Amino acid sequence: FALERLGVHDSVDAVFPPSELADFFADLPAPVDVIGDDEIEGYDAVVTLDYHEALLECAWIHSIQAGVDRFPFDDLEANDVILTNSTGIHDRTIGETVAGYLLSFSRRLHTFVAAQQDRRWDRPEWDEAFTLPGTTACVVGTGTLGRGVAETLGALGVCMTGVRRSGEAVPGFEEVYANTHLLEAISDADFVIATVPLTDDTEGLFDAATFDAMREDAYFVNVARGAVVDEPALIDALESDSIAGAALDVFEEEPLPEASLLWDLEDVIVTPHCGAFTRDYFRDVGGIVRENVQRLEAGEAFHNRVV
Ligand code: NDP
Repeated sequence: FALERLGVHDSVDAVFPPSELADFFADLPAPVDVIGDDEIEGYDAVVTLDYHEALLECAWIHSIQAGVDRFPFDDLEANDVILTNSTGIHDRTIGETVAGYLLSFSRRLHTFVAAQQDRRWDRPEWDEAFTLPGTTACVVGTGTLGRGVAETLGALGVCMTGVRRSGEAVPGFEEVYANTHLLEAISDADFVIATVPLTDDTEGLFDAATFDAMREDAYFVNVARGAVVDEPALIDALESDSIAGAALDVFEEEPLPEASLLWDLEDVIVTPHCGAFTRDYFRDVGGIVRENVQRLEAGEAFHNRVV
């Protein structure tokens, strides 16, 4: 197809102002507009956060997220719609977010922030605080997120192990296990970190058996998707002290419902699915789209093509 009009769907507003991205594209060979649901018709390509049925009329959809589990692959394929995603850009942001969680657990920072709200001078018990060198983190999903986490935590002295389907070695990881050995891989780790895409294989992957296999003093981190975790099983594990705590950026239901027990559990850090936020997000996404516009003109295959 030839790119005649490019739309920036206003749903991206949840992550950055749509106009910032539209301005960034000012030099593209096609006009670029910010559009709403009822304006999608007539655009060949749309950069979006949300899925909308009208997008089936486009030739190309670009997702500003890496996770594309909300897009109906079969319908897209049947309508000859190309889908590209934004994997490749979240290594440093998620790496630093996860480092923040781990430093908070080790240096007890989240407990001080909570105490500060009540003007309380509360010190931790003598044996609560620790340091990261010598601890081990097992990252499940050694892609862009997993490698970014390994690079950031590796610099803090954390020994990194990983889990992926093939079990093949990955730079930055001392040891990599095949996913058939997940329980063995996580059983020694001080931190278990979920960075897998949500697929039929990974839905509910972190369940009661996984939390049982973890050490009692280990922390669980989820920066992947809420549905890779059996949330009631996680809550059970936290309430029964069969794991030490959790840092969660993603949830079965988002926003996390006010009634969720996760808000109040001790040593649980809740962040509102913003682990990859950065003021540079629109530039990082824009870079992928710009490259694909060039590839389209050159008749080359798209980068990050999913469908
Ligand atoms: P990548 O495709 O780069 O990496 C995914 C990795 O997961 C691959 O290396 C793959 O390795 C591995 N994997 C896939 N299936 C399995 C499985 N069944 N068991 C173990 N490992 C598996 O994606 P990203 O790292 O860019 O993103 C990963 C996910 O993180 C996204 O799909 C999204 O849902 C989420 N995400 C969340 C963000 C947030 O804001 N919290 C931000 C960005 C992404 P192999 O092929 O070797 O199995």
